[in-house]
Amino acid sequence: MAQAWAMALHGGAGPVRDKTYEREEAHMRALLDEGAAMLDGASSALDVATTMVKALEASGFHIAGKGASANADGVWELDASIMDGATRKAGAVAALVGFESPIEVARAVMEKTPHVLLAGAGAVAFAEKHAMTRVADPHAYYTPATSRLVAPGELAHGTVGAVVKDKQGRLAAATSTGGLLNKMPGRIGDTPLIGAGTWADTRCAVSCTGQGELFIRANVAADVTARILYARQSLHAAAAGALADMAALGGDGGLIAVDADGEIATPFVSEGMKRAVANAGGLRDVRTFR
Ligand code: ASP
Repeated sequence: MAQAWAMALHGGAGPVRDKTYEREEAHMRALLDEGAAMLDGASSALDVATTMVKALEASGFHIAGKGASANADGVWELDASIMDGATRKAGAVAALVGFESPIEVARAVMEKTPHVLLAGAGAVAFAEKHAMTRVADPHAYYTPATSRLVAPGELAHGTVGAVVKDKQGRLAAATSTGGLLNKMPGRIGDTPLIGAGTWADTRCAVSCTGQGELFIRANVAADVTARILYARQSLHAAAAGALADMAALGGDGGLIAVDADGEIATPFVSEGMKRAVANAGGLRDVRTFR
């Protein structure tokens, strides 16, 4: 049955069995209630996706926003993107240094510039001009939410994301990340790349998490809508197929997706993926493992 509204959240595909994720799950449960109240009202998919990702960034529970880790030079370079399915407008920031909410800056790029993606110094200048909240002291602000002890050279990862269908049938997707632990300075993953880590149109909204290089090489988020459009696949088949294509290259991770009927898919090929789903029919579910 088609759902008037539906939403899914993720907190990254980095979880491992030797940890529990109770506080992350409790926080996501509270976010589902907040999102549900917004969607029961007149909020747009775009506003709900922004609000959810902003809260996930601020929680410090995931490798995004406050919970992000510094790169190999000790600098916090963050990536984020957002896409509005109804208009196919999109905004993104890459290697952004010094601001609390990369997703807020990405949304401003979408709404206040003729561009889609701003990176590095240009992104900082833009965020400053639009009075986005600064991080005064990175070492005091960030509380790296590493999912486990990471060996030198190991590339563990985490991200947050939201996909939403609202009562008007509009879809939106938003994704924000600190990227890979120990990443090289200047490294940019799939998260700020529209089509790789984030996508929304009138068919589906998708937010990815996992080893970004592989998601870029498989163009995962856009592959989900392509499979729906050209191969007439269901959301579930399209999401699983796009992810399998990435996994065949040797990557791990997962994605969350919602379609125009309010169907939700949350496939992953990693050990776990912090995730939460809700719809107008009363569905509320939060999980980390299978
Ligand atoms: N995809 C992100 C990146 O490669 C990391 C993640 O989702 O865990 O930057």
